[in-house]
Amino acid sequence: MARTKVRSKDKHINNLAKIVSGPYSILYDQEDLLAYDCDGFTIHKHLPKAVVFPNNTEEVAELVKYCAENSLPYLARGAGTGLSGGAIPLNEEVIISLVKMKRLLSVDLENRRAVVEPGYVNLKLTNSIADKGYYYAPDPSSQSCCTIGGNVAENAGGAHCLKYGVTTNHILGLEVVLPNGEIIEIGHDGIPDAPGYDLLGLLTGSEGTLGIVTKITVRILKNPEAKQTVLAYFDHVEDGSQAVSDIISAGIVPAALEMMDKTAIEGVEAASFPVGHPKDIEALLLIEVDGVSAGINEQINHILQVCKNHHVREVKVAQDEQERARWWANRKTGFGAMGAISADYLVQDGVIPRSKLPEVLNRINEISAESGLRIANIFHAGDGNLHPLILFDARIPGASEKALEAGSACLQVCADVGGSITGEHGVGIEKINEMRFIFTDEEIAAQTNIREVFNPNNLLNAGKLFPSPGRCVEIKKEMKAAMASS
Ligand SMILES: Cc1cc2nc3c(=O)[nH]c(=O)nc-3n(C[C@H](O)[C@H](O)[C@H](O)COP(=O)(O)OP(=O)(O)OC[C@H]3O[C@@H](n4cnc5c(N)ncnc54)[C@H](O)[C@@H]3O)c2cc1C
Repeated sequence: MARTKVRSKDKHINNLAKIVSGPYSILYDQEDLLAYDCDGFTIHKHLPKAVVFPNNTEEVAELVKYCAENSLPYLARGAGTGLSGGAIPLNEEVIISLVKMKRLLSVDLENRRAVVEPGYVNLKLTNSIADKGYYYAPDPSSQSCCTIGGNVAENAGGAHCLKYGVTTNHILGLEVVLPNGEIIEIGHDGIPDAPGYDLLGLLTGSEGTLGIVTKITVRILKNPEAKQTVLAYFDHVEDGSQAVSDIISAGIVPAALEMMDKTAIEGVEAASFPVGHPKDIEALLLIEVDGVSAGINEQINHILQVCKNHHVREVKVAQDEQERARWWANRKTGFGAMGAISADYLVQDGVIPRSKLPEVLNRINEISAESGLRIANIFHAGDGNLHPLILFDARIPGASEKALEAGSACLQVCADVGGSITGEHGVGIEKINEMRFIFTDEEIAAQTNIREVFNPNNLLNAGKLFPSPGRCVEIKKEMKAAMASS
C-alpha cells in the first residue's frame, strides 16, 4: 500500500507538542503512526505527519491556528471506525485525535438533553442514563467504540434509526472550531425554527471538512414502555423483501427492520454470537416494534400475519430480554463476522426505494457472479439502506481491485433505481468518484463553494467528500497502483 517516508521530529512537531498539555500529547515515530494510516476503510493507507491529543477546546483551537499559520494540512479523528476513509491522512495531515475529550459534561433529564465531548463513545451515553429510564437513540453497530463526534461528522445511522431518525435528528447544538481557529456555538440548543441558516444541519454529515466539533448537545429519549422482537426465516429473498414492503405499507413503523441473506447468515453463524439460524434459508428478517404497551400485540400479530402471507418458513417472537439481546448481538456484530468466512471484506452502503429491494438484490447477485466474488447482504431493510459486503482475499493479485469495482457497480445500481450512494457511512475517499452518479458538475460546485467559505485554504481534510478535478482520479490511480504491487 502507499506508505510515505519515516517521520522525524521537526520544528512543527516541537511546536505542536507545546500546545497540548499533559503526557501522551503527540505521536510522531513511524511505528506509532502506523496505527493511524487508515480507518475502517483499510484498502488505502497513508502515514500522517503526527497525531496530537488535545485535552480541551482551547487546545484544539490553538492547534488549528498553528496549522493554518504554517499551511499544515490537518484532520479530526474520533475512534477511526469510519468505513469510507474520511480519517485517512491523504496529504500527510496532522491528525487531531479527540479521544482525550471524552467526558459526559451534563445530563438534563427535565429537558431531555445531554452535553458530551466529541470523543465520548456512543453506547456510553445510553449506559449512563439507562437506570433513569432514558437512552440515546442513534445506534450504529459500531456504537460500543465509535465516538459521538465521529457520528456527527458522518451523520451516522443504525438499526433503530428507521423509526427515530439518524444522528442529525438528535443533535441540538454544537461547539465547533472553525478552520481559522475561531470557536463558535451553533444550534440554539433545539429551539425550533431558529432564525438564520441551519448551520447545525450543514455541519452534521459534513465529514469533518467544515470544522472540528468540540462539544455536542444531544436529545435523549425516554425508554419505550414496551418492545417486542420478531425473527422470521424465508426460503426466498423475494418473499422477505415483499414482507418488508407490506409491513411498512400497513402503516406500522417498526423501531428496526433488518434483513440478512444466506451468505451473511453463514458468516454470523460461524462467528462469536451464533443463535442457530438455519443455514439453508435464503433470508431472515429481524423486526422490532416499541411504544406504549397497549398497541404492541396488535402490531406483532399484524407482522406475523404479513410474514405468513409471504410463505415464511418459521417466525417467532423473542421470549425474554436475553433472547432478544442474543438476536441483536448476532446482527450487530455482522460486519466483523464476515472475517469468519473471508480473509477480507469491503462494506458498501447504498440506499434504494424499498419497493426496489427484490430487483436490486437480484442485480447484486449478478454483480457477484460477474466478479467471481461472494457478496453478503446485511442491511437496514426498512429504510432501504443496503450494505453489500464484498468478500475477497487481498493476497490474490487483482482481488482488491475487483472488490472495489464490484462495490462501485452496486452503487451504480442504487443510483439507477433512484437511490443514493451512501445511507450512513459517508463518501470519504471511497465513494468520491461515485458522487458523479447522483450529482452534476454544477451541483458538486455549489457544494464545494460552501466548503470554501468555511475552509478557504482547504487545509482541513482535503480530498474528501467531493471529487475535485484531478485529485480523485489520482486517488483511484494510487489505489490501483498500490494493489498491483501488493
Ligand atoms: C463494524 C462496524 C459497524 C458499523 N456500523 C455502522 C452503522 O450501523 N451505522 C453507521 O452510520 N456507521 C457504522 N459504521 C461506521 C462508523 O462507525 C461511523 O461512521 C462512525 O460515525 C464513525 O465514528 P468514529 O468516531 O470512528 O469517527 P472516525 O472514523 O474517527 O472519523 C470519521 C469522520 O469524521 C471526522 N471526525 C471525527 N471526529 C470529528 C470531530 N470531532 N469533528 C469533526 N469531524 C470529525 C473524521 O475527520 C472523519 O472524516 C460502522 C463501522 C464499523 C467498523
